[in-house]
Amino acid sequence: MHSAIPHLIELQRVDHLIAALRTELETFPKRVREADTKLSGAKASVVAAKEGLLNSQKERKKFELDVQQWKDRAKKYRDQSGAVKTNEAYKALQHEIANAEAEVAKAEDAQLEVMMASEEAERRVRHAEANLKEDEQAVAKEKKEIEALQTEKKKQVESLLAERERALAPIPQDVRDLYDRIAKRHHGSGVAEARDGQCRGCGMRVLPHTLQELRREPNEEIYRCESCGLILYTLEPIPLATHS
Ligand SMILES: [Zn+2]
Repeated sequence: MHSAIPHLIELQRVDHLIAALRTELETFPKRVREADTKLSGAKASVVAAKEGLLNSQKERKKFELDVQQWKDRAKKYRDQSGAVKTNEAYKALQHEIANAEAEVAKAEDAQLEVMMASEEAERRVRHAEANLKEDEQAVAKEKKEIEALQTEKKKQVESLLAERERALAPIPQDVRDLYDRIAKRHHGSGVAEARDGQCRGCGMRVLPHTLQELRREPNEEIYRCESCGLILYTLEPIPLATHS
């Protein structure tokens, strides 16, 4: 086995940890966005409550106008009633006055109802706004936690990158280059254990001769799996038979 193998194994261990952390770090922007979407329900409630309030205010205005119009009309008829000549015309005016006053009363009732409804709408707006504020505080807290976790993970990557440098230092340049090239094609793996006569990277058989070579004392030979191309190493002890 090549003397750099233990360092390659360490390098790969660190590389896998870095890759897992980076994959996790990529999910953080999404997690922040998801936290924000938790507010959309509460925001929509505020918009709906405000719309309800606006509508009831419009209605209130409308009934105010109604009351005023019917009052004006009753007054107009009363003013006219002093000037009528016939009993019939007088009666007709009295009828109109009574009718206008009934309409005033009706419009005032409606106005009162709308006023109560708009007070209720105001309460709903306050309630929805309070809910939103509460949700915003919860989401802000959650986002802070996500950011803290993200910072921690970034720090872990930093320290692993330093570990990587330490693992890399004793590895000859040509072996580094080979490892990098293989790892790029194999999801970050450059080495694989040969165990029970199999490459653990792909499961294919490793030639007995290769296994034998792998078990030899440290040398400067690199053996690669013939199927997947990963650099092979073995942790199996040297069988006594090979010494005989
Ligand atoms: Zn293989």
